[in-house]
Amino acid sequence: MTKKKEILIIGAGPSGLSAALELAKTGHKIILIEKAKCPGGLMRNINHGDFNVDLGRKELYTRIQKVNDFWEELLHDDYIKYEHRVGILYKNKILESSILYKGRLKGLSLIQFLKCLISFVKEKISNRKVSNYRDFAYKNSGVLFTEIFTKGFHEKFVGRLWKDLPIPDKTAREIDNRSTVSLFQYFFLKKFETKASRIEWRHPKYGAGQITNLIIEKLNNLNVNVHYESNLSGVKIIDNSISLVTIELKGVKKELKPDYVISSIPPEFSGNIFLNLDYAKTQVKTSMNRGAILVYLFLDESSKFNHCWVNVSDQNSKIGRIVNYSNFGGGMVPKFKTCLCLEYFLFNKDPLFDLPKQELLEMALTELTKAHLINRENLQYHMIFKLPNTNPAVDWKDYLNEPHKVELYKKLKEIKNLYNVNRAGTDRATHAGLEAAAAIKFGSKELFEKYTDPRQKEPWNH
Ligand SMILES: Cc1cc2nc3c(=O)[nH]c(=O)nc-3n(C[C@H](O)[C@H](O)[C@H](O)COP(=O)(O)OP(=O)(O)OC[C@H]3O[C@@H](n4cnc5c(N)ncnc54)[C@H](O)[C@@H]3O)c2cc1C
Repeated sequence: MTKKKEILIIGAGPSGLSAALELAKTGHKIILIEKAKCPGGLMRNINHGDFNVDLGRKELYTRIQKVNDFWEELLHDDYIKYEHRVGILYKNKILESSILYKGRLKGLSLIQFLKCLISFVKEKISNRKVSNYRDFAYKNSGVLFTEIFTKGFHEKFVGRLWKDLPIPDKTAREIDNRSTVSLFQYFFLKKFETKASRIEWRHPKYGAGQITNLIIEKLNNLNVNVHYESNLSGVKIIDNSISLVTIELKGVKKELKPDYVISSIPPEFSGNIFLNLDYAKTQVKTSMNRGAILVYLFLDESSKFNHCWVNVSDQNSKIGRIVNYSNFGGGMVPKFKTCLCLEYFLFNKDPLFDLPKQELLEMALTELTKAHLINRENLQYHMIFKLPNTNPAVDWKDYLNEPHKVELYKKLKEIKNLYNVNRAGTDRATHAGLEAAAAIKFGSKELFEKYTDPRQKEPWNH
């Protein structure tokens, strides 16, 4: 091997950890710092007694072969298949999002189904002018079907009303023309298979944090330790290259001259750190204005529904999604027990963030009792996490709609020895980490930027 390189990795989430493991195997010197007290970032485990659950919903996509192989190699038999059953909570009743369960009625009563059908036909013959996303969806699926199955949840998830969103671009419109045909098939033809039903879904037996724990174990065997409660306090850049970095290891300052820096700091914050740009400083507030509250309920009773999670479509409920860990992974929840996580998707300034945790708990218990999803007297324990500036709905491609961010990414890319690996989605984050490691091994940053560029359709399957 050529001369050993010194690589500073900032953040022990899925992206930083996958990069660390791949590089540690090659014998490079790794310095891995993490500002929290534990590893995993947004993919860390939440533990209570024999419960090992995820932080919110963690659906691990299997769309990137490289990542899937990486996880498989780590988990072996603990990377288990599960039934990807998703429900819709509407007026205190769970409906199905796929016709694989309960057929075309998806749990609707015959009367409700007929009403949906009538509203669908009405839309098809109406001359509604489509000028926003809501009208576009109504026109495609009918008002009632849209209201019950998709709109309510999605509006909460992304924090935007569909009537304020533009109609999709040409490609999406073509897809939706096809979806009209699909909807026709859905209502009238026998065979109807959804794309999602063909995907093989897999999850670590003991929760997504099992991946984190296995990587940490392997890193320790390779003599790489995570420096927890450690941060980055200064960066010096000369000729578009990071030449000096000051880190604080549990408050003790240390200067480094790393050959490469791999950063999983969200890009909005990276702007301030690596570029010191005024626009980065001012725009952080607007682009990171969403957050989440997670309410965990640990119950001494068997799970009352078989779905991995249910999307809450009622607009008068603040809950966005309810995750049921009994139905993922297999080993996350002990037998005859239940753990649910209620996810609230909010703006940072939402009054729920100021509500005392006891009141949040009471609100959650009341709603779930009303929907017959729990017996509140069986509640054993609870945990509540308030996560401002954490947007579970972010798609990495979103930045393309924000000119200041496009500029920010461009400038970050120009720093020759910086690999910005923070990504939306555990698979994309892991993929960015793996590609950063490969690019450093083969000495080509261009390849990293190319294969992790969100503008390309499926850049990862090269
Ligand atoms: C509620 C919720 C639900 C989600 N659901 C899914 C899902 O179903 N499927 C899916 O694929 N993805 C999901 N995600 C997204 C996924 O968890 C993230 O996209 C992924 O974890 C990003 O990985 P990362 O390594 O890039 O960043 P992170 O996981 O955020 O890790 C970054 C790490 O860097 C550390 N750090 C940051 N700044 C510094 C600093 N200055 N110094 C030192 N350390 C620092 C942080 O503490 C953190 O540990 C969800 C996220 C949330 C919040």
